[in-house]
Amino acid sequence: MSAPLIVAIDGPSGAGKSSAARALAVRLGVPYIDTGAMYRAVGLAARDRGILLPIEDAEAVASIARHARIELIPDAAGNRVHLDGRDISEEIRRPEISLYASAVSAIPAVRRSLVAEQQRLGRERGGVMEGRDIGTRVFPETPFKFFLTADPGVRAERRAAELSARGTPQPLETVRREMEQRDRDDGSRADSPLTLDGRYVLIDSTGRPLEAVVAEIERRVREAI
Ligand code: C5P
Repeated sequence: MSAPLIVAIDGPSGAGKSSAARALAVRLGVPYIDTGAMYRAVGLAARDRGILLPIEDAEAVASIARHARIELIPDAAGNRVHLDGRDISEEIRRPEISLYASAVSAIPAVRRSLVAEQQRLGRERGGVMEGRDIGTRVFPETPFKFFLTADPGVRAERRAAELSARGTPQPLETVRREMEQRDRDDGSRADSPLTLDGRYVLIDSTGRPLEAVVAEIERRVREAI
């Protein structure tokens, strides 16, 4: 039997990864796997235990990541996220949890736990997996690696619109500042930083409709299969 299809979609926040990955998964008939939601779940669990930012006790967070039961449950809108049986899908999208997610994701032991789980999920049924290190660390062997990006101003606007739609609006300037901070942290951490290299197909979604981006990725994957 051939190995299940894994498509890696990496890139910074607001690049349109989630929408593109979700739509692509439907077209290719494989699960959509949102790895950022897993880092958000650990971030939320850490915050709920009273851990403050910046994180001082990395071992406490690593232990949370080892013991947390994080489930990604497919639904029409993507993935519902459960933490130890509790639905946290909405809560993890709040801006303060983005900062927690970024902070916990810099802890190597947290990454080890989550990467192992992501590899298990991918090997089971394949998937379109979105994140920051899917093509470099989680499934470096997949030939299907896409780096999705867009102009920072466009990304900030998308993120701000998304937050408004979720009922947690924030001023554009605040969104932009937090996004820049997260981009810097995600790109500069020692363990698995977000990295664009020659193994990726770079796709810039600035000014392009989602449909065109998804169609391009699908075409490239099908041509190569
Ligand atoms: O993709 P999303 O914005 O939900 O991810 C939240 C945070 O989780 C990112 O800013 C990043 O710090 C971290 N992350 C990661 N590796 C992944 C996915 C997300 O470090 N594969």
